[in-house]
Amino acid sequence: MAVKPGDVRRVNRRWARVRVPKVGWVRFRWTREVSGARSYRVTRDRAGRWHVAFAVTPAPIPAPGTRAVVGVDRGVVVSAALSTGELLSCPGLGAGERARLVRLQRRLSRARRGSQRRGRLKVRIARLRAREVDRRKDWVEKTGTDLARRFDVIRVEDLKIRRMTRSARGSVDAPGTNVRQKAGLNRGILAQSWGLLVARLKEKAPGRVEKVPAAYTSQRCSACGQVAPGNRESQAVFRCVVCGHTANADVNAAMNIALGDIAAGRAVTARGGAALAGPVNREPQHHAPIPTGV
Ligand SMILES: [Zn+2]
Repeated sequence: MAVKPGDVRRVNRRWARVRVPKVGWVRFRWTREVSGARSYRVTRDRAGRWHVAFAVTPAPIPAPGTRAVVGVDRGVVVSAALSTGELLSCPGLGAGERARLVRLQRRLSRARRGSQRRGRLKVRIARLRAREVDRRKDWVEKTGTDLARRFDVIRVEDLKIRRMTRSARGSVDAPGTNVRQKAGLNRGILAQSWGLLVARLKEKAPGRVEKVPAAYTSQRCSACGQVAPGNRESQAVFRCVVCGHTANADVNAAMNIALGDIAAGRAVTARGGAALAGPVNREPQHHAPIPTGV
């Protein structure tokens, strides 16, 4: 729905109201500033909560002007690794909350179909899930703002390529079906948060987000440039077979991503069998398109 001037009125510090056509004035909790909203949407989530969401394109965050570049890798263990060595993890549910969720789900499976008890359990489960989603969204906002503020250029992996290399290896170290299922679920959640983070980054740092072809970022040594499948000691540890450089595997990948086209150029050369120590091709073959808004 489009917002006309005067359609949104602040009642007091906590409450405001919005005029909804054919319904009238609807009161809502004022949780953040809405200025320059062009439209709004009223939704009801799985927990039965109603939301009024105003579509606001956030004001771009000014670049620091330090020419600082950061590479961000979507990690397997943590949510994101930065080329600075920082490991960021997106919060989910705590151990207690997770246990409660499992308990509620068990009770739900025993509850009679169509019973009131079943309905109540469903709402409680949905509330826990909604809490998890809220936390994740909050993390994405904060992380996006932080990166846009600290770095002039933010390089992220081009996931179209990365997804293939990761999934080919993924199932080997997942022994039980249950474990695999859980890992798959977790991967899905991570993928969602990652997509949201990149989308928000493009809005907060327009023209400063670059996508890097990242096919070899996990096998390339960020210290000497050697690309070898044997470089990766484990999912979590990177150890270069040539120079012995050891690092957190996700941080090593993030450092390659920070290098952008240079790393990609070398990786392509390596695959073609040419000398690894040869001159780095600075022709930007994969010049990252400047992303525009989502
Ligand atoms: Zn090395």
